[in-house]
Amino acid sequence: MPGPYVVPVHGDEALPDACDVVVIGGGIIGCSTALELAERGLRVTLCEKGGIGQEQSSRNWGWVRIAMRDPREVPLMAEALRIWDGLDKRTGRDTGFKRSGIIFTCATDKELADHESWRSNLQAHQIESRMLSAGEFGEMFPGSSLGMAGALYTPADGRAEPQKAAPAIAEAARAKGATILTECAVRGIETSGGAISGVITERGPISCGAVVLAGGAWSSLFSGRFGIDLPQFKVMNSVLRTKPLEGGPEQTIWADDFAILKRQDGGYTVASGHENIVDIVPASFRYAKAFLPSLKSEWRSLSFRLGGRFFDEMRMARNWQMDEASPFEYNRVLDPVPSKAMADKALAKLAASFPVFAKAEIAQRWAGYIDVTPDVIPVISAVDSIPGFHIATGFSGHGFGIGPAAGRLMADIVTGKPPVVDPTAFRLSRFSDGSKIEIVRGV
Ligand SMILES: Cc1cc2nc3c(=O)[nH]c(=O)nc-3n(C[C@H](O)[C@H](O)[C@H](O)COP(=O)(O)OP(=O)(O)OC[C@H]3O[C@@H](n4cnc5c(N)ncnc54)[C@H](O)[C@@H]3O)c2cc1C
Repeated sequence: MPGPYVVPVHGDEALPDACDVVVIGGGIIGCSTALELAERGLRVTLCEKGGIGQEQSSRNWGWVRIAMRDPREVPLMAEALRIWDGLDKRTGRDTGFKRSGIIFTCATDKELADHESWRSNLQAHQIESRMLSAGEFGEMFPGSSLGMAGALYTPADGRAEPQKAAPAIAEAARAKGATILTECAVRGIETSGGAISGVITERGPISCGAVVLAGGAWSSLFSGRFGIDLPQFKVMNSVLRTKPLEGGPEQTIWADDFAILKRQDGGYTVASGHENIVDIVPASFRYAKAFLPSLKSEWRSLSFRLGGRFFDEMRMARNWQMDEASPFEYNRVLDPVPSKAMADKALAKLAASFPVFAKAEIAQRWAGYIDVTPDVIPVISAVDSIPGFHIATGFSGHGFGIGPAAGRLMADIVTGKPPVVDPTAFRLSRFSDGSKIEIVRGV
C-alpha cells in the first residue's frame, strides 16, 4: 500500500569523512534541525534510511495548529507559526502553508467549557482565537447539519502540504551547505572518552562532534541499542484523500467523528477524529507501565490489535553489530496498511453532516505510525550520559506543525545558544529522574 506521493529529494553521492553534526532521520524534525544548523554555519550531514519525508512527515493530516495544544508546547508552537509564515521565502519553495483557520467543534457543554478555558494559554501570545455558538457555525457553513454545543475557532492556525514541506526544508538545508544522504541508514554511534566521535552508516563511518537522533518511530529502537531508555509507543492512524471537490469548507475542522483539511489540490484529507489502532508488539509489554496513564486517558480512541506487526518486531534485532545490516536497512519506509473501515466511516459521517461531501470521490488511502511518549509531548534534549548525543523525537501526533520550531530549539541546544523557549519540559531525563509524568492533552 504505497503512501502519498512525496516530492522527491535526490540524495548526495559522496559520503563526507567528517562534519560537525550528523542528523539521523529526514522527517520534518531532522530536516528542520539540519536547516537551522547549516544556516548557523555548521557542517551538517543528514542521513535518511529511505527517502526524505516518507514516513510520518508526509502521511499526516497537514494541520499546523496551536489550538488545543498541551500548554507546555504552546510557546514553541507560537514560534512555529512565525517560522511557517516565512518558510516559503526561506526555503525558496512551496510548502503550502496558509493561515486558513482551525475549528474544534464541541459536542457537549462540558467540552465547550474546557475549550473556552484552554484559550487562556494564548494570552501571552497575541494569537486570535474565539468561541463560536452553534448558530454562528451554521452561518459560516450553511447546509451543515453538524450538531454541537459550540466551537473554538482559531483563525491564526493553518495548514501546509505534508508531501512538500520536509523536502522543501531538506533542499534549503542543502543550499546552505548540508549534505543530504538518502537510502543511508545510520547503524550506530561511536564514542571516544564517552563522548560522541562519529556515526557508522551503511555506507561507512562519518566523524563528528554531535549527533541528533530524529528517527521518529525508530528512535526508541536506535537509542535502546546504546543503552538509552526512550519509552515510545506507535499508534496507527488511517487517512484518505478525496479528489478535488467544490463547495466544501476552507477552514480545517475537527469533530468527534471526522477531521478534515482542504488540500492545495482542492481535495480534502479526511480521517477519524478519534479512532486509532495500537498494534501490540514486544515493546508494548516493555513500556506498558510507563504508558498506563495515557492508555487510561485515551482508551476510547484506541483499538488494540495483535497481528503480524507483533512478529515483525519480535524478529527485529535489538542488538545488531556495526558491520552487519541493521533493522533500519530492512525497513526503508514504514508503510502500514490503512484501516479502510475507519477512514471510510469518517467520510460517511462527514457526508452526513456536510452534504457536499456525499459526492466526494476517494483518490487514495494510507496510514502512518505516530510515535507517542508517555506524557504525549516530545523529547528535545541532550542525552546526559553521552555528551554530544541529542534526541528530538516523540512528537505524539503533533510534530508536523511544531516541526520547524522544534528544529530551531534542537539547534539551540546543540550549539549552546540561549534556547528559543524553555526546553525543560522536553528533557529526556524526565522519564528516569522520578519526575511526575503528566498527560495534559492526548494524541
Ligand atoms: C496519520 C497522521 C496524522 C498526523 N497529523 C498531524 C497533523 O495534522 N499535524 C501535526 O502537527 N502532526 C501530525 N502528525 C504527526 C506528525 O506527522 C509527526 O509528529 C511528525 O511528522 C514527526 O516528524 P519526525 O521527523 O519526528 O518523524 P518522521 O517523519 O517519521 O521521520 C523520521 C525519519 O527518520 C528515519 N530514520 C529512522 N531511523 C533511522 C536511521 N537509523 N537512519 C536513518 N534514518 C532513520 C525514518 O526513515 C524517517 O523518515 C500526524 C501523524 C500521522 C501518522
